[in-house]
Amino acid sequence: MYLVADISVEICASKSCKLCTQYCPEANTILYSEEMGKERGFKYGSAYVAVDRCKGCAQCVWVCDNMAKNNAIKMIMIDQLPKAALTDNITYGEKSTTAVLMSPVVG
Ligand code: SF4
Ligand code: SF4
Repeated sequence: MYLVADISVEICASKSCKLCTQYCPEANTILYSEEMGKERGFKYGSAYVAVDRCKGCAQCVWVCDNMAKNNAIKMIMIDQLPKAALTDNITYGEKSTTAVLMSPVVG
C-alpha cells in the first residue's frame, strides 16, 4: 500500500484554478473533468487523479495549499480511497479526456 493524491471535488469544483495540473511531474496523472463538478451541482468542473500513475510525491498538495490556497488535495492510502480513476478506464477522445470512476481500488 502507498499514498496517492486525492482531490476533494467539493472544494476543487468551487475554485477550479487548474493550477495543480501544470505542476504534477507525471504526465496524464492529474486530469480535469468539466462534468465531475457540474453533475454534482457545482459551477465548475474538477481536477482528479489517475491513481495508478500517481507516484505519491505530494507536489500537487503543496501547489494547492500554498500557491492556490485552496487545500483541496490530501495524500491518502490507496486502499482507503472511496473512488478512484484508473488509467485503464480513461478514454482518450479527439480533444477531451473522460474517466470512469471505479470503487473500490483493490491491490
Ligand atoms: S490546485 Fe487545488 S483547487 Fe486548483 S485545480 Fe488543483 S485541486 Fe483544484
Ligand atoms: S502526488 Fe505527485 S505524482 Fe501524484 S498527482 Fe500529486 S503531483 Fe502528481
